[in-house]
Amino acid sequence: MIRQEKWEISLTTLAPLHIGGRDNPLTGMENAVARIRDRLVIPGPSLKGALRHQIERYLIDTYYDAKNQRWPQEHLALQPCMASAGDVSGEEASLIAKGKYRKTSDEDRKVRSGCVYPSKYGICPVCYLLGAQGLTGFVQVSFLVSEEQADALYSGRIDRAKGTIAHGTNRPYELVREGAQFKGSLTVLRSDDLRGWTFGQPRRLANDKTPDQWLQSGDWSAERILDELIVKRLEGIGAIGGYRSKGFGQIQITVKQVGARG
Ligand SMILES: [Zn+2]
Repeated sequence: MIRQEKWEISLTTLAPLHIGGRDNPLTGMENAVARIRDRLVIPGPSLKGALRHQIERYLIDTYYDAKNQRWPQEHLALQPCMASAGDVSGEEASLIAKGKYRKTSDEDRKVRSGCVYPSKYGICPVCYLLGAQGLTGFVQVSFLVSEEQADALYSGRIDRAKGTIAHGTNRPYELVREGAQFKGSLTVLRSDDLRGWTFGQPRRLANDKTPDQWLQSGDWSAERILDELIVKRLEGIGAIGGYRSKGFGQIQITVKQVGARG
């Protein structure tokens, strides 16, 4: 039996928002906003990526020893990885060198940062919750779908000289207007009898070892994880999508529980 909990995610745009969809050759729209059929959407993977970033930042803000530029030994199991399967960029390498993110392999002297198991400190909390590299996690976020329709959209173009967006001109970038409402769901897997998984508990492998070192201390109850690492972090996503440096994409998210289902 699988037991899941559902939460409703409500998102309001506080500024124009652009999350790219596919180019549409019929309309000539080169930078269309993401949609499914006729509904405007915020894709689940975009939201999940933003949530992942929030959890990473929260763990770093809470546990990283900024003064000594290192991750404290006693909390190494809580150090997040970058969930990257390949090589990291120069900027990312410096975050790893400072100990903010995990260094998970050094084969061929290349710096990598993605959870692997077996490894000394196991799978990081972010990968436990959201999954990584073929491992499923405990938390899923759906696509968020817009409540209203056509009036949620307008178009503009990038002013290349000013780096801003000019309205109503011939090179259209679709934008969702400020004040648009989107809704979707967060699903948390509370238990899966077949796999023997319980949310907030270390997963047991065949040899009775666990990849979930960070849960061995007993500091993290399921309710603490839900509140501190999921709900508050989702609500803490302040911006999403493109042109954020220009003040676009500011959002407000609220999360509320809608009940359990079997
Ligand atoms: Zn990880």
